[in-house]
Amino acid sequence: MRRKAAGLILSGLLLATGCSAGSSSPNAAPTASGTGPSAAPSSDGSTAPGGPDDTSGTADAFRKWKIKPMAQAPAAPKTKPVRTGSGAPPVVSDIPTREKIVFVTFDDGAEKDPKFVTMMRELKVPFTMFLTDDIIRSDYGYFKPLQELGNAIQNHTLSHPNLRTESESAQRHEICTQQTKLKAEYGTTPHLFRPPYGNWNEDTRTAVKACGPQAIILWRESMQIKGMQYQRGDKKLHPGDIILAHFRGPSELKGTSMTEMTANMLRMISDQGFTVARLEDYV
Ligand SMILES: [Zn+2]
Repeated sequence: MRRKAAGLILSGLLLATGCSAGSSSPNAAPTASGTGPSAAPSSDGSTAPGGPDDTSGTADAFRKWKIKPMAQAPAAPKTKPVRTGSGAPPVVSDIPTREKIVFVTFDDGAEKDPKFVTMMRELKVPFTMFLTDDIIRSDYGYFKPLQELGNAIQNHTLSHPNLRTESESAQRHEICTQQTKLKAEYGTTPHLFRPPYGNWNEDTRTAVKACGPQAIILWRESMQIKGMQYQRGDKKLHPGDIILAHFRGPSELKGTSMTEMTANMLRMISDQGFTVARLEDYV
C-alpha cells in the first residue's frame, strides 16, 4: 500500500513538475583533480560484440532507430574539469567544456522497458542513472544490464522527498541509506547525487558529504515526452549541458514509449550537432 501510494503521488508530482521544479540557483562547479571510477564496459550481447555482425554504436545502429548518427565522443579528459573531494560538494548543472558534448541522465526508475535495454545496447550512448529505492525495488535486476553497458548507477534518495522540507538528519537517512542499498544491489558505491525535483539546501550538502557522493548534479534541459524544456532563453543546447530525462512509467508515457521518448531526445541532440559523453568522466 505504502509503495503504491508513493508511486502514485510521485507520478502526479512528475507530471506536474517534470521533476524539475525550482532548483536552487545552480552554479557551475568548483575544483580538485579527479581519478574517479570509470565504469568498465562489458557486454552480454546476443550478437558477438565487436564481431562482424555487431553494429552497436555505429551509424547503422543510429539509422535503425531513425536518429542521425552522432560523432564519437571525445576521449575522456585526463583531469576531470569538475573537481571534487575537499569542502562542500559542488552543485553542477553543466560541465565547463568547449566540446560539442552533452550528458544524458535518466532518473527515478519507474519504466522498465526491455526495448530500452536493446536500444542502448545498440546505440552505445553513455548515460547516468539516478535511482530511487521506492521506485526500483520492484525490479532491481532491470538496471543491471544497463549498468553492464558501462553506465553508472547514482543516488536519487530512498523515497524521493522534497529535501528542502526535511531535517538534516532525515536528509542524511534518505541519502546514506540509499548509498548502502545501491552498493548492495549493484556492487558500486554511488559517486554522484541528484536531489528530487532539483530541490536542495545547505543541509543537503552537509548530508551528501557525510554519506559519500562527491557532487550534487542538477541539469540544464529537461526532456519531456516529446519536447525539450530549456532553462536558457535561446532554447538551444550548450557545450557541457546536463540533460534530465526519466524512466517514465506507462501512465505518463500515454501511448508513446520509453524508446520513442529517448529517440526524440537523441534526435534533438544530434540535430544540433552535439554528441553524448559520459558524465562520470568529467565529475
Ligand atoms: Zn526524480
